[in-house]
Amino acid sequence: MLKPEISILGAGFAALTAAQSIRKRSLEAKITIIAPRSQFEYYPSLIWVPTGLRQRKDILHSLDGFFERHDINYKQATVTGLSADGRTVETSDGSVTNDALIIATGGRFIKKMPGIEHALTICEGIDAAEAIRDRLNALKSGRIALGFGGNPNEPAAMRGGPMFELLFGIDTWLRKKGRRDDVELVFFSGSPKPGMRLGEKAVTKLLEEMGKRRIDRHLGHKPLNFSPTGIETEAGRVNADLILFMPGMTGPAWIAETGLPKSEGGFIKADKFCRVEGFAHTYVAGDAGSFPGPDWLPKQAHMADLQAKAAADNLLLGLEGKEPEKTPKPELICIVDTLDKGIMVYRDQKRSVILPGSRALHWSKRAFEKKYLKALR
Ligand SMILES: Cc1cc2nc3c(=O)[nH]c(=O)nc-3n(C[C@H](O)[C@H](O)[C@H](O)COP(=O)(O)OP(=O)(O)OC[C@H]3O[C@@H](n4cnc5c(N)ncnc54)[C@H](O)[C@@H]3O)c2cc1C
Repeated sequence: MLKPEISILGAGFAALTAAQSIRKRSLEAKITIIAPRSQFEYYPSLIWVPTGLRQRKDILHSLDGFFERHDINYKQATVTGLSADGRTVETSDGSVTNDALIIATGGRFIKKMPGIEHALTICEGIDAAEAIRDRLNALKSGRIALGFGGNPNEPAAMRGGPMFELLFGIDTWLRKKGRRDDVELVFFSGSPKPGMRLGEKAVTKLLEEMGKRRIDRHLGHKPLNFSPTGIETEAGRVNADLILFMPGMTGPAWIAETGLPKSEGGFIKADKFCRVEGFAHTYVAGDAGSFPGPDWLPKQAHMADLQAKAAADNLLLGLEGKEPEKTPKPELICIVDTLDKGIMVYRDQKRSVILPGSRALHWSKRAFEKKYLKALR
């Protein structure tokens, strides 16, 4: 195909990496990105907003320059549906046809828990992070409860890392301000070993870290509901003046009425080449998808990037009439930041490594942020 029309849905980690990978290999392709905003939200640094290390301007980044530099046609719209053959995307602003498609519209949170409105969820973005900052500043004394949930139908669909970061970051910040004696911290989880996807050694290390920091634990008891004064769990009550909670994840809402194959947990089902089963020239990358792999396969920006690169390469091979050959390597890399230090967790199919807290790792996380965002400007 001389000038294939390729649509990419979303403008997050997976979408932007896919667009760059396609452009690197094909100057002829007409790439269209469809997303509600021409703006990138750098989620990993949200954990630093409540404690003031980062501001709104550090999180939200215009994509106008990126689109121009990579010759990408941007369509401002929200995707609402997809034709049965995948060649027509329905949006809030009409339909867009394509020769090939990459879906990268991310996941969403399951907000079913009764009283969920009493909890703040940092993963919802900058508004939530700022609301947490304001509540932290206003809380002169009391108790903060932090925790995360899962998706019972797809255990891998959870994101615990940022909640550990928020917990340790708030602890460090309260200590620096001389306020830690006035504010108690408690971590709650339905699992007796929260964060098992990071590996057994990592969980042990994180629980030890909580002990060292005098952070209470309420583990192994399923939360049942939230109220303005705390959390009801199967084993009793956790009192709290502020609840920070990350619910389990599920797939994008817009796929509900499409014929896209769905996993148990509500994500778009992909094969090992990131192809959407039963749809020609259609791929999925990042948090929107459910991929074959180990049970610890992370829903992370790093994994989203690897999936996006594989999807882009396989898509171009497919348009040339060739078989796909790229498979993303399952890999978990995470620096659990504590505001002044970082604990590194690495996992692949052969190894599981954890490096103890060091200042250098905190600065590595900041250096990575700088490098990633520079490439988008
Ligand atoms: C607080 C926090 C900290 C994190 N820390 C790390 C970390 O340290 N390391 C790491 O690797 N990962 C981290 N992650 C996870 C990482 O951010 C996600 O895995 C990553 O954002 C997934 O990328 P994505 O492109 O699949 O989805 P997203 O980044 O969620 O992007 C989805 C895109 O699709 C768009 N979209 C949504 N719906 C539609 C629609 N209907 N139509 C069109 N467009 C749509 C959105 O506007 C957005 O542009 C963190 C996440 C959070 C929230």
